[in-house]
Amino acid sequence: MLFLQIILTIILVIMILRLLAGYLFRRFFRKLQSNFDASQTPPPGQKTMGKMVKCDYCDVYLPIEEAISKGQHYYCSTAHLQHHDKQ
Ligand SMILES: [Zn+2]
Repeated sequence: MLFLQIILTIILVIMILRLLAGYLFRRFFRKLQSNFDASQTPPPGQKTMGKMVKCDYCDVYLPIEEAISKGQHYYCSTAHLQHHDKQ
């Protein structure tokens, strides 16, 4: 019966190792995927060259994402937006 016990123990150990290997593989794959996702998106702070627009008040050019828009008009600051509204 000792032989059977050894066989059962070996099978048990193999099953535990397989579960552990599966867990480690999934963890590794997830980490790899998250690293891949991070490399796909540009890091924050790095500006993409977007469309440039002109301030309707002072004619300064600035990126569209930094401009204040009102209808078809763009402004470099709220002060210039208000100046233009008064006219
Ligand atoms: Zn301006």
